[in-house]
Amino acid sequence: MSETPKSAAAGKPDDNAPNFVDELVQAEIDAGRTRLVTRFPPEPNGYLHIGHAKAIITNFSLAKKLPGAHCNLRFDDTNPANEDTEFVTSIQEDVRWLGFDWGEHRYFASDYFQQLYDMAIRLIEDGKAYVDSQSLEAIREGRGSFHVAGTNSPFRDRSVAENLDLFRRMRAGEFADGARTLRAKIDMASGNINLRDPALFRIKHVSHQNTGDAWCIYPMYDYAHCLSDAIEGVTHSLCTLEFEDHRPLYDWCVDKVDLVNHPELLASLADRGWHQAAAKPRQIEFSRLNINYTVMSKRKLLALVSEKLVAGWDDPRMPTLQGIRRRGVPPQALHLLAERVGISKQNSVIDFSVFEGCIRDALDVKAVRRLAVLDPLKLVLTNQPEDLRETLRFANHPKDESLGQREVPFSPQLWIERDDFMEVPPKGFHRLTPGGEVRLRGVGIVKCNEVIKQGDEVVELRCTLDLDTRPGGAAVDRKVKGTIHWVSALHAVAAEVRLYDRLFKVADPDDESEGKTYRDHLNPDSIRTVQAWVEPALAASAPETHVQFERLGFFVSDRRDHCAEKPVFNRAVTLRDTWAAK
Ligand code: ATP
Ligand code: MG
Repeated sequence: MSETPKSAAAGKPDDNAPNFVDELVQAEIDAGRTRLVTRFPPEPNGYLHIGHAKAIITNFSLAKKLPGAHCNLRFDDTNPANEDTEFVTSIQEDVRWLGFDWGEHRYFASDYFQQLYDMAIRLIEDGKAYVDSQSLEAIREGRGSFHVAGTNSPFRDRSVAENLDLFRRMRAGEFADGARTLRAKIDMASGNINLRDPALFRIKHVSHQNTGDAWCIYPMYDYAHCLSDAIEGVTHSLCTLEFEDHRPLYDWCVDKVDLVNHPELLASLADRGWHQAAAKPRQIEFSRLNINYTVMSKRKLLALVSEKLVAGWDDPRMPTLQGIRRRGVPPQALHLLAERVGISKQNSVIDFSVFEGCIRDALDVKAVRRLAVLDPLKLVLTNQPEDLRETLRFANHPKDESLGQREVPFSPQLWIERDDFMEVPPKGFHRLTPGGEVRLRGVGIVKCNEVIKQGDEVVELRCTLDLDTRPGGAAVDRKVKGTIHWVSALHAVAAEVRLYDRLFKVADPDDESEGKTYRDHLNPDSIRTVQAWVEPALAASAPETHVQFERLGFFVSDRRDHCAEKPVFNRAVTLRDTWAAK
């Protein structure tokens, strides 16, 4: 099922898209709230994708609502096995690319390992946590299921002293992975499985990207995340809907540890210069952003990269921020998307065309216009001197004079797009035909007098230019139905142009019915590379310049491979939605 939000369907940005989190926080501010801290908490185990952009924009934008408010960038690095500093670097680059700055507020959950450990000791002393000596498997079984209540562990009623001793020995490395687990003592009969004595710390003899071999026990996500929020003084902890059932556990940890009233638990952090005041954070869930024709699970994105089904994390077909950036999507498109989709608790799948609409709208205002021919056919003007060389002036943007003008060289030998000519045109074809006329953009009207062929292939069109229709000419306003683009064959620069399309050919690549997986749904036509002719100004563009190839689409000079000697452009999006017709 796809659902297009109303504001996006109408095709124009809705600056006040309904956003319940915004309204809620605004209401609190109106009622006198003076502290506001949010956070974006990525796990550094992969590259960020379009869904994360929504979370980033939401959290950082919220923190602009109140003077003195801020948004923390916190790396949730409590699971050492899959984490890597490569991801830390790329995540930071992506957040900056979206236009946000965390200032001094960059944190790592692993910086709090000692405090999280101290808090666990407190829970044990309060009789709220115990060390379980059952195997992980037995623990899992004992938790029951949705229909079956859990059963108490035989180790649940250990004395505080014994628990403290065992937990300290866990930390000291006396036990093998999985041999002991620190669990919260909550309620094995709870209707919410998350409250059936969830694990707080587990043993893992694995090096950590930040703390090295200092620890062999690591805190579980549900314990570390909420308490990291509390340590950092986060007031609003936004997360996606699947954590709704975890909220009682989130609140349990925050309440039982009660950092606000126990600042001594953070004394060891204060010794290291920590000066954030703890808070009692509130978790608020919103629906995740899903877009059809793509996958956004980190696991699947990682598989696409490691199985070499794409060229890397920044392959322009990937929904990673590095990928779409390289594809030519500007950060403004993601801001537009976040606005148009809004924030709700309603799960929905956004149509890929909504995202493409955002790319077009964001690029339309800023991309300079340029001439490029992707599939060239020679057109010779026979009524012009062979040595004619002119320099025409073209506006860079039809709606924005401030973007200036450029010089475009013109000569009697041109390239036009092969499909702008048809020998046997169907009805309604308004471009060039044998004996027909068309306007060459910025030049004038040409008439095709002769079609030169080699075998079946048309290799050259011999045309005359009506000089009266040139700019300033007597018949400049003479009407013909079509206008086509061109480049001077004597001046054009050869360029590699990568034509990207959707990575998947089906709307729901995650659908595994009929024994298929997303790997089976890859679109074999998602990349096509052509050798094109482009006007000289294009070759001279700096890397990562957003342009519109007139009549063809929005493109970007590739940020890695493009240079003046060897221009490379990527297609971000076509000018119109070509999938609707398919
Ligand atoms: P995983 O937990 O499987 O590694 P994740 O996508 O949740 O994957 P995180 O690094 O934990 O990755 O995500 C960081 C933040 O981004 C979280 O707060 C998460 O809720 C948010 N987020 C992730 N995916 C989306 C999405 N599709 N839409 C909105 N927010 C998202
Ligand atoms: Mg996550």
